[in-house]
Amino acid sequence: MHMKPVIVVHGGAWAIPDDLAESSKIGVKCAAMSGFSILANGGSSLQAVEAAVQILEDNIAFDAGHGAVLNADGDVELDAIIMDGKNLAVGSVSCIKNIANPVKFARTVMEQTPHIMLTGIGANKFAEKIKIEKIPTKELVTENAVKEWEQYQKYKQSVKGLFNTEKTHDTVGAVAIDSKSNVSCATSTGGITNKMVGRVGDSPLIGSGAYADNFTGAVSTTGHGESIMKVTLARQVLFNMEKGESPQIAADHSLEYMKNKVHGRGGLIVVSKSGEWAARFTTRRMAWASVENNILTYGLNPGENFQENVHFKL
Ligand code: ASP
Repeated sequence: MHMKPVIVVHGGAWAIPDDLAESSKIGVKCAAMSGFSILANGGSSLQAVEAAVQILEDNIAFDAGHGAVLNADGDVELDAIIMDGKNLAVGSVSCIKNIANPVKFARTVMEQTPHIMLTGIGANKFAEKIKIEKIPTKELVTENAVKEWEQYQKYKQSVKGLFNTEKTHDTVGAVAIDSKSNVSCATSTGGITNKMVGRVGDSPLIGSGAYADNFTGAVSTTGHGESIMKVTLARQVLFNMEKGESPQIAADHSLEYMKNKVHGRGGLIVVSKSGEWAARFTTRRMAWASVENNILTYGLNPGENFQENVHFKL
């Protein structure tokens, strides 16, 4: 069967201040368009989600790669995951340093090691061995990230308190289905400002930050990592779809469950094996964009659904 390809990307949940609203919207639109151009040219969903997330990692409007937030020591520790729904192949990295595109590195872990996740020193050692280019920490750090970190230091905010505040920018992710009906997902993040050194959130964890299975669909999540992990949010959405719920209803029920059960908020994007998709969140904002049938759809505030015509030869 020849499936119509679809890509959906997100640039993270939370409040996203007004001065970053426009750049967040432009950022997700560009990433969705680039990812879709790969699908339109017959590329795989895995290639598309990797490319889209790399673009978001390179954009300082988002908390991933360049623009990542700082941990309690003022350092950058990055997490990422990528998963192929065709064979459940998955690669992830956590607490890595000095790497500009963690999603690309996660794909290397998937393809060149017998493992699923590499963390910290071991992961960086492997990166050196396979000659992944190192980038000095200061090149990943933005003025915004430093300002935010200084503010947290000044007011000694708890990590719990961080999620009630105006975060400046956030985690990124992508889900896609290609013309061969294969689904994939990827998520990448700098985590949360002032996190303890060594803290790993949901983003690189299979079933929490992302999951993809051709049997049902693909999901990428964002939001309060400690809550997302408790309810394994990405897999929960797919479980709900396996019970017969649409992607949108499954997403809403899963986010609602997380809110009621563990008082956690977040957002997610999902695409089903038949190409139905949804972008849903329980935070104040989430930047997201999708492309299908030569229509680019995007939003930031609840209920927003802007559309533009785009022109790809399919
Ligand atoms: N889920 C990410 C984390 O907890 C952060 C986020 O998406 O806002 O590391």
